[in-house]
Amino acid sequence: MSNKTTSKRIGVFTSGGDSQGMNAAVRAVVRAGINAGAEVYAIYEGYQGMVEGGRYIRPLHWFDVGGILQQGGTIIGSARSKDFRTREGRRRAAFNLLDNGIDALVAIGGDGSLTGANLFRQEWPELLAELVAEGKLTPEAAAAHTNLAVVGLVGSIDNDMFGTDMTIGADTALHRIVEAVDAIAATAASHQRSFVVEVMGRHAGYLALMSGLATGADWVFLPESPPADGWEAAMCDTIHAGRARGRRHNVVIVAEGAIDRQGNPIASEYVKQVLTEQLDEDTRVTLLGHVQRGGTPSAFDRNMSTMLGAAAAEYVIAATPADEPQLFGIRDNEVFHSPLMENVRKTQQVAELIKAGDYTAAMEMRGRGFVEAYETLKTLVQAQPRPAEPGQHQLRLAVLHMGGPAPGMNTAIRAAVRLGLDRGHTMLGVHNGMTGLINGQVHEMQWMSVHGWVARGGAELGTSRQAPKAEDFARIAQTLEAQGIDGLLIVGGWIGYQLAYQFTVHRAEHPALAIPVVCVPATINNDLPGTEITIGADTALNTIVNDVDKIKESAVASQRCYVVEVMGHDCGYLALMSGLASGAERVYLPEVGIGLDDLRYDVAEMLDGFRQGKRLGLVMRSEHADPYYTTPFLVSLYEKEGGALFDARPSILGWRCAG
Ligand code: ADP
Repeated sequence: MSNKTTSKRIGVFTSGGDSQGMNAAVRAVVRAGINAGAEVYAIYEGYQGMVEGGRYIRPLHWFDVGGILQQGGTIIGSARSKDFRTREGRRRAAFNLLDNGIDALVAIGGDGSLTGANLFRQEWPELLAELVAEGKLTPEAAAAHTNLAVVGLVGSIDNDMFGTDMTIGADTALHRIVEAVDAIAATAASHQRSFVVEVMGRHAGYLALMSGLATGADWVFLPESPPADGWEAAMCDTIHAGRARGRRHNVVIVAEGAIDRQGNPIASEYVKQVLTEQLDEDTRVTLLGHVQRGGTPSAFDRNMSTMLGAAAAEYVIAATPADEPQLFGIRDNEVFHSPLMENVRKTQQVAELIKAGDYTAAMEMRGRGFVEAYETLKTLVQAQPRPAEPGQHQLRLAVLHMGGPAPGMNTAIRAAVRLGLDRGHTMLGVHNGMTGLINGQVHEMQWMSVHGWVARGGAELGTSRQAPKAEDFARIAQTLEAQGIDGLLIVGGWIGYQLAYQFTVHRAEHPALAIPVVCVPATINNDLPGTEITIGADTALNTIVNDVDKIKESAVASQRCYVVEVMGHDCGYLALMSGLASGAERVYLPEVGIGLDDLRYDVAEMLDGFRQGKRLGLVMRSEHADPYYTTPFLVSLYEKEGGALFDARPSILGWRCAG
């Protein structure tokens, strides 16, 4: 790449605590920046590198950021910098940027780092004037860069920032916590122990709340919603009742910033003491600490960071002096930007509300999703259902699966059964999907029937892949009548949608079918209408991405091109997203098909890459991408054309995707 000073130069840096996905963001900034005609410089070690200059500010080229998508942490380093907090430090930083011709920044960090970036941009004209007065900068050089363009991406495992539904690293941290708690739960169950697990989050309960939901924890402490006075007795009652009902282990999750109503910290050790002294529970404390920042980034973090990094680079390259700094995040799964400082201010306001004891306002500011998750958690952590209200109309509600098993199906059934029981209704489980409805395989479910289902793969109730036929509905109606079923919840795929639709078609003939039917979309293929993501798709994506990481590791020594086939039926979601998350050269999707000219082009590109030193090629093929250009065909094609440069191998992941 040329070193012309005429092209736009942007700097990218990571600052504050590291978080998984930062590398994916840096890679995307570099490649999208180069693609847009800019030169991209890495500023190593965050603001400290900016203040020091010299070897800390260096160009990054296209291939410099190869192979970093799956790496944890940040390859360009992150640091906390006292110097940057001083005017003198920022003046030096301004000098070092201009010395490299950089006047646009993509900052990746937490609210502190983004506040620093905003201040820097505000001061920029004055800093330049000071450098000119000191004789360090010519007036011409200052005049050529009157504005510093700034965009921010939020790198923080806490997911506590306004302006984005998710922060970079939060999803991965949640994966680490859930893996750790699942492991702890297994040993706890063996010994009938209780575990108090402390997770990160000084002012934010996101990780504690979501890991509590995902692991079926018995009690959770958050900074935003301190428990009512006397919580010790309430917690002990719940845990005692759980034991009495047959629970073999207890897990209590404590956010590191958890407090009581008086604002005093709730320490994990104190929770342990309460459980040990009041319940005589064998209790252990586990501080997850930096494990939460470890491992490889999740598929979600890789893909979100890639989308955000690319959009941020394009924006900052085109930014005009009139554009105020923007924060790039996602809203409803789409890239979205909004004024940076407004978001930082609102974020800091939540911490202030917690400090001031205004917990209602703090919870409100966390948003509807957070509050709903908290309400659900509060219901599910109980050891037993609340008794029905006197005179309440009790419904008999049935749950069943349709379609292939998808990870998370059991979790959904567990939540539905417990919420139903909690509202005083009778919950019925239908075995083997529609087959059970036809044959009357229905049984009443109790609170403990779904114990442990939160983390169990597959479909405990069994499922059916059979499409409904007109003649089935007489018997289905009979079962509904015999069981007195008032409503049906179908957790499953397209075939479940079909069943629900057929209920409406046949209800004139069989009045018992005239009941409310609700579908909860669950399939690894993510191909259902009415939702952006189906239950199971994210787990499938992570399974594929982990497998591909291993394939990549095994293949680097051998000059090889892998053709990886993934599931998806007629939907390319898994192939596309796993391709994005694992840095595949090419994805073949049913939505696009495969043409001969595409193949010629792809083979030429692959050869070119290997000639330039590439050691591993990766293409992803969705199972129904094309009926003729099959996976074996693609392998033969790449093998033949690769000649002495590389060989080709298939990897068909098949049902592993659903594991
Ligand atoms: P995070 O970005 O994760 O919130 P910090 O709050 O530690 O982490 O901030 C990281 C770095 O950003 C600090 O070490 C400092 O160099 C810079 N920074 C933070 N706040 C400011 C500020 N108000 N003014 C200038 N620089 C700041």
